[in-house]
Amino acid sequence: MSQFLRDMMSSCPAHRTMKNLLIRILLFTLLCANSNLNAADPIVIAHRGASGYLPEHTLEAVSLAYGMGAHYIEQDVVLSKDDCPVVLHDIHIDTVTDVAKQFPARKRADGRYYAIDFTLAELKLLHVHERTDADGKPVFPKRFPQGKSQFRIATLEEELELIQGLNHSTRRDVGIYPEIKQPAWHREQGHDITKIVLSTLKAFGYSTKQDKAFLQCFDVTEVKRIRTELKSELLLIQLLSKGQAEVTSSEGLSELSKIADGIGPSLDQILLGYKAGKPQLTDLVARAHANGLQIHPYTFRSDALPAGVKSLDELVRLFVEENKIDGLFTDFPDLCVDALSRLSK
Ligand code: CA
Repeated sequence: MSQFLRDMMSSCPAHRTMKNLLIRILLFTLLCANSNLNAADPIVIAHRGASGYLPEHTLEAVSLAYGMGAHYIEQDVVLSKDDCPVVLHDIHIDTVTDVAKQFPARKRADGRYYAIDFTLAELKLLHVHERTDADGKPVFPKRFPQGKSQFRIATLEEELELIQGLNHSTRRDVGIYPEIKQPAWHREQGHDITKIVLSTLKAFGYSTKQDKAFLQCFDVTEVKRIRTELKSELLLIQLLSKGQAEVTSSEGLSELSKIADGIGPSLDQILLGYKAGKPQLTDLVARAHANGLQIHPYTFRSDALPAGVKSLDELVRLFVEENKIDGLFTDFPDLCVDALSRLSK
């Protein structure tokens, strides 16, 4: 409890009531963070950390996601110029950092700034902020305010160290969910990101299906390479976007099940919309399960719900009770842990 609160309570005549209220709030928070879901309940994957509340992929967003009870925390990974895996969603860094201000001369001909053109020491100088669009406006205006507080880019190693440290101090076992970003592009630039990420994961004890990790990638060829050529035994998730009909066909899923353990589709590959108030659902979940594949759709956001859905609770119920998904990516881990605990009652 802060000195401020202690001072305030000791000077307030109703300090006992206030103290009780604070204790209740603390207990409630702890209960929420530790709510044990049934084994069959889907896993909550903190998408870029608790990115609904703090700038994505910062160590602060990871800590918050951890405290909010996420079961897994996601790391998108790209490489620096000196081959350090850093946790960033894009190969570009201009929409989440002040790189244009600090290094105006370092943009490429397309006007963009690329993580791979900067050493780790240079990347560490940058300030991270909430994601903006090309005009510098926040993508999610109700999230963490621009220009407030201080955030830095984290390396993959720093994130794994933080999560493992918290696992040690809280005696919980939160998993990791790294994504290899644009491996073909990295190779064109002369860097083999997958080999580097696999070796970092191995150094932190993640190398088999029993370890608390899922490795994910959009690139179908790379997912195959991870399992066959690089012989990784980690749990593998094939990410999917709309338009990958060849992978989501029954033959495609059957083929995929020989190498991957699951798929990560977008919400709109399952929920097409509403007709006369009724959700129009595809059979992707059932077909994934028929092929022995887990299914972890993205992204559950209370501030960007699919058209026709009234609340995050309703979205969670629809995907969990009617669709039986195995996990979900969310920017708001606390809200999803909460929604799931209400469903399991
Ligand atoms: Ca991702």
